[in-house]
Amino acid sequence: MSQLHPHLEPVYADVLHRNPGEAEFHQAVFEVLESLGPVVAKRPDYVDAQILNRIVEPERQIIFRVPWIDDAGVVQINRGFRVQFNSALGPYKGGLRFHPSVYLGIIKFLGFEQIFKNSLTGLPIGGGKGGSDFDPKGKSDSEIMRFCQSFMTELRTHIGQYTDVPAGDMGVGGRELGYMFGQYKRLTNEYESGVLTGKGITWGGSQVRKEATGYGTIYFLEEVLRSRGESFEGKRVVVSGSGNVAIYAIEKVQQLGGTVIACSDSSGFVVDERGIDLELVKEIKEVRRGRMAEYVEHRPHASFTADASIWTVPCDIAVPCATQNELDEDDAATLVRNGCTVVGEGANMPATQGAARVFAASGIAFAPGKAVNAGGVATSALEMQQNASRDSWTFDHTDARLREIMQGIHDRCAETADEYGRPGDYVAGANIAGFNRVADAMLALGV
Ligand code: GLU
Repeated sequence: MSQLHPHLEPVYADVLHRNPGEAEFHQAVFEVLESLGPVVAKRPDYVDAQILNRIVEPERQIIFRVPWIDDAGVVQINRGFRVQFNSALGPYKGGLRFHPSVYLGIIKFLGFEQIFKNSLTGLPIGGGKGGSDFDPKGKSDSEIMRFCQSFMTELRTHIGQYTDVPAGDMGVGGRELGYMFGQYKRLTNEYESGVLTGKGITWGGSQVRKEATGYGTIYFLEEVLRSRGESFEGKRVVVSGSGNVAIYAIEKVQQLGGTVIACSDSSGFVVDERGIDLELVKEIKEVRRGRMAEYVEHRPHASFTADASIWTVPCDIAVPCATQNELDEDDAATLVRNGCTVVGEGANMPATQGAARVFAASGIAFAPGKAVNAGGVATSALEMQQNASRDSWTFDHTDARLREIMQGIHDRCAETADEYGRPGDYVAGANIAGFNRVADAMLALGV
C-alpha cells in the first residue's frame, strides 16, 4: 500500500474490506490506483466528487442459479454472474466467461478492467462482465445447449441493447452465443441483434469480430515497434495460449513477417523453430477441440513440454494470451535475461504484479491488456453500430476501422504517459487515459 497516493490508500483499504477473499479483484484495483497518484494531485474535483470511491464499487451485481440436465438425465447446478460495473460511457459491455475457476472475484476483476479498456477505445460503451463456474470441457453439444439456454433464461431479465450487452470470453464462442441468442429471441419474441455481440455472420454478427482481439493485439504491438523504429519483420515471437486470442494473434504476426516459435494450452507448450503451423493448431483446437500435445504427432521436428513455463523459450517479443497471472516474476526475469524487448498482454492481466515490476525496472516495453486486447470489445462496438443501422460492413472496411482504433489507443496511451511525466510507461498511460474519460462522464452525470 505504500506506493499509493494518500487519498487512494483509504479507497484501497475499503475495497479490501468490502470484497474479502477476492484476490484478483484486489490486484486489478491496486494496479489501476497505483497509476492514479498524479491524476488525484491534479484534479481535486475528482476527489471532491468521490469518483475513486464510486468507481471501485460495481453499480449492480447479479448472482443466480443455473440448473440444467446432463446427458445422463441428472440435474446439475451451476452459479451464474453478471457484474454491471459502470455505465457512465454507455450500456454495460463485456464478455461472459465459462470456466471452473469463475467466482465473483474473477468477474469483478474482469469487469473493473473492462471499464478502462472500453473507455480507451473512445467508443460509447460502459463496463461489465459475467460468466459461470460451468466447465465446458468434455461436455456434449446438447449439454452445452441446455446449459446456455438455462443461463439465458435468467440473464435475459438483466440485459438489452441499451442496458447491457454481453459477448464471449474464455469458454464462450460462436456456438455458445448462438444458443444464448436463440433463447433470448425465443423468450422475448424480438430479433434484438444488438443485445449480444460476437454473433455468427449469418445472424447479425460482424466481419473481423472473431479475429479482432488477436489482430488488435498485434496492431497495437506494431505501433509499439514502430515507435522504436522497428517492425515484426524477422522477429521471434512467443504467444501463450491456443484459444481465440492466441490463434488470431499468431495469424497476424505471420502476416507481418514475424515467426511465432511457441504456443501452448493448459497441458503444456509446443516449440516449432520452423514457425508454428497455424492451420494445424486451428484443426486441433477449433475443429477437434483437442490438446496441443497432438501437434508433435503431426510435426515430429517440433517438441512438446508438459508442466513447464513457456516463458523459458528465448524470444524478441512475448505475447501472453492464455489467462490471468500466467506470467510471474521469475518468468519476467527470464524473458528479460533472454533478450525479450517487448511484452504485450493479449489476455486480461496475464502478468502478475511482480512480473509487471520486473518489466518496469528493466526498461523494456510492457503494454497492459486493457490497451493491447481492446480490439475485441472495440469490434463488438462496431458490431453494435452495424446492428443499430441494420447494415453489414465488408471484412476490409471493418479491419481498417480496427487498425485505426488500435493506433488511436496506442497514441492515447503514449501521449498520456508523456503528459503525466511517465514517458514510455504504457501501464500509466492506459490507466490514466482510460480513467479520465470515465471520470469526466461520471462528474457530468452527477451523483
Ligand atoms: N471478453 C472480451 C474482453 O475481455 C470481449 C468483450 C466484448 O466484446 O464485449 O474484452
